[in-house]
Amino acid sequence: MSPYDNALRAEAAADHDVDVKVGGPRPSREDAEAAVRTLIEWAGDDPDREGLLETPARVVRSYEELFKGYHSDPRVYLERIFEETEDYHDMVLLKNIRMESHCEHHMLPVIGRVSIAYMPNNRVVGVSKLARVVETFAKRLQIQEKMTAQVANTIQDVLQPKGVAVMVEAEHQCMTTRGVCKPGASMVTKTLTGCFKEDAELRKEFFDLVTKGN
Ligand SMILES: [Zn+2]
Repeated sequence: MSPYDNALRAEAAADHDVDVKVGGPRPSREDAEAAVRTLIEWAGDDPDREGLLETPARVVRSYEELFKGYHSDPRVYLERIFEETEDYHDMVLLKNIRMESHCEHHMLPVIGRVSIAYMPNNRVVGVSKLARVVETFAKRLQIQEKMTAQVANTIQDVLQPKGVAVMVEAEHQCMTTRGVCKPGASMVTKTLTGCFKEDAELRKEFFDLVTKGN
């Protein structure tokens, strides 16, 4: 990582309380590949056999994609707002955004769907930006509860709507493929702010829209 990248990350963390490791440089690509070799040996295989020779390099490249959320600030996506809303002041809902993350306890995939609603306060954002916010937080090591709150709180802080509702439903491979091995079990988390927290009718409308007609 270049000093420029480190400075950017430190600045993002200071400005926005972004939850990233700042300061010391990352290990080199060679160090990361050596670590993957060690894990292959630990699993019981020979990292020098033909089929595995390029695997450490591939794994490290895939990490760049799977964990790219450490290198962007989700707030930036919400800063471009539109104010010509013709007084639209009902719920805006984007539902069933596919989400792929990794649990921070086992580093195994967590795959599910996220639904986000907000009540605009004369400001709206491009709808794809909500999906970008999800992606940025998902492409980090996560626990689902924290990610749900991060998505809701970031939208509340930056866009300042009258309220935000976020619901996440996901399968955790650390419990479907190992451990207690319960395929099909999914976890549901939600965070509500502002009017969604206060208004039971609005909350019900959100959950009805999200859970019915899927
Ligand atoms: Zn786990």
